[in-house]
Amino acid sequence: MKPFTRKQFLNRSIVLASTLFLLGGEWNLIAKGTIEEKISDPPDGLKPILENDPTAQALGFHQDAKYTDFNLYPERKQPQAKNQVCLQCAQFTKLNEGWGKCSILTNGVVSTKGWCSAWSKKS
Ligand code: SF4
Repeated sequence: MKPFTRKQFLNRSIVLASTLFLLGGEWNLIAKGTIEEKISDPPDGLKPILENDPTAQALGFHQDAKYTDFNLYPERKQPQAKNQVCLQCAQFTKLNEGWGKCSILTNGVVSTKGWCSAWSKKS
């Protein structure tokens, strides 16, 4: 086996370091959950409930349950809360794969991934 020349060694080191840097960055993004499924657009003509809507705010509503304020709602950290999203809520009526109507927040549509403190299990 021929020894590396200095130039070959430097080139391979740069490629290896770049690869590790890119993989590390990607891993961090995945580990932090920043690569996430995007919420689809709502059905034509319908607007999502704004999270700063007074009722939505009072109920701690977010279109993506991941953004719940865990300081205000620590029970959302419990494993059993994982499936507590609008799709599984008694107040939710599905419109399509990503959206539906809520009988409490009525100024728009809610994402199937949403959550608020009025959540109750669909029977
Ligand atoms: S009441 Fe249910 S459907 Fe309505 S926003 Fe809250 S969790 Fe979603």
